Amino acid sequence: MRVFKFGGASIKDAESIQNVASIVRRFPNDSLVIVISASGKTTNAMELVLKAYWERDLEEMQAALNKVKAHHKALTDGLFPNLEHPVYNEIHDILIDLEWILEEEPQDEFDYLYDQIVGTGELLSTTIVSAYFNEVNLKTTWLDVRDCIKTDNTYRDANINWEETEGAIKEKVPTLLTQGLVITQGFLGGTTENFTTTLGREGSDFTAAIFSYCLDAQDMSIWKDVPGVLTADPRLFDHPTLVEQLSYSEAIEMTYYGAQVIHPKTIRPLQNKTIPLHVKSFIDPEGKGTVIGAFEDKNYPPMIVVKKEQAILRMVSKDFFFVDEVKFSKLFETLAKHRIKVNMTQNTALAFSVCVNDDAQKIEALIADLEMNYEVKKIEGLKLVTIRHTSEALFDRIIDARKIYLEEKIGSNIQLVMNKEEIL
Ligand code: ASP
Ligand code: MG
Repeated sequence: MRVFKFGGASIKDAESIQNVASIVRRFPNDSLVIVISASGKTTNAMELVLKAYWERDLEEMQAALNKVKAHHKALTDGLFPNLEHPVYNEIHDILIDLEWILEEEPQDEFDYLYDQIVGTGELLSTTIVSAYFNEVNLKTTWLDVRDCIKTDNTYRDANINWEETEGAIKEKVPTLLTQGLVITQGFLGGTTENFTTTLGREGSDFTAAIFSYCLDAQDMSIWKDVPGVLTADPRLFDHPTLVEQLSYSEAIEMTYYGAQVIHPKTIRPLQNKTIPLHVKSFIDPEGKGTVIGAFEDKNYPPMIVVKKEQAILRMVSKDFFFVDEVKFSKLFETLAKHRIKVNMTQNTALAFSVCVNDDAQKIEALIADLEMNYEVKKIEGLKLVTIRHTSEALFDRIIDARKIYLEEKIGSNIQLVMNKEEIL
């Protein structure tokens, strides 16, 4: 069996959904589990609904909600000319569930509400796509992923309970696959009390990897609007080239530091079972794409990835004690306590600098916690540029006359923190 993942761009309008069906038809002899994200930019749109709901801006909330509704209405109208089709009721019911939540004043924590509200995007998209598949004789079961991917209740960044998840997936999916295709939601999970959780933004790739792992898939494919993994982001650089093969570890390094083509969490479950990961184009399904697998690392071209929204925290010891291993362990403990992701570090006798994801709320709380013992200075508006397998010429070109806040060079791999406005 094989696992496919289709992201938002691949189902952004009715025509794109028809294209997805035509891709699936190319695999008539395969058992397929198909993981689907929210359509187009629905997750962003749902975040706006939530924000307005949370801030009690009811007018704004209604406007944002209307946009989500209109978007999905365009999808159903484009795909189901028969207005009596049951999909119209199904979509209506999902939206009613959402409106029930939105009618009450917020009583719960923000992160919990986020998952209950924003997760609606995937319920809508999978309902539409699976109804359409059945309509065009691709026999499909809609599977509620919240019964399969079992998580703890760390809302917005839920941790997988692997044992329960594997049990549930093995119990449900193989039987369904004997009847046809299976379509399920990316990004979502469910707690033991049956509340919806989410796995972090762009988490649908990870969902597909979880299914691949639990079902010992022959391979997994992510269908994207780019030809595969490129040497740089085509939105930021001219003429990047396709990388045809990547090792699991190279893929983790690239995605962890900002390559947006795959979610970084995707690789490990696949690596554990040596399941190859194909990154292919839904615009050009014949194209070679990239395969990530158990390959030897050799002869890679230089590759550039950029991680945005970074900040540097420079912590200087107030009491003039050295920042030594004891202080280090305390500092990291505090960073972990506030769930701040550290991307780079540097230290001197009295100072410790970290490049972190600039999550303003978390950083504020961290600074308050450290203030007793450290002078903390924050520099924001930065990005982290990672160059792998660089050449001297490329390195010199990137550094040029730019102000570099932090720099690290290990062999031919370089990381530079610079102003976010720098054009490379
Ligand atoms: N729909 C979610 C998001 O946009 C998950 C995903 O697309 O992977 O973050
Ligand atoms: Mg996506």
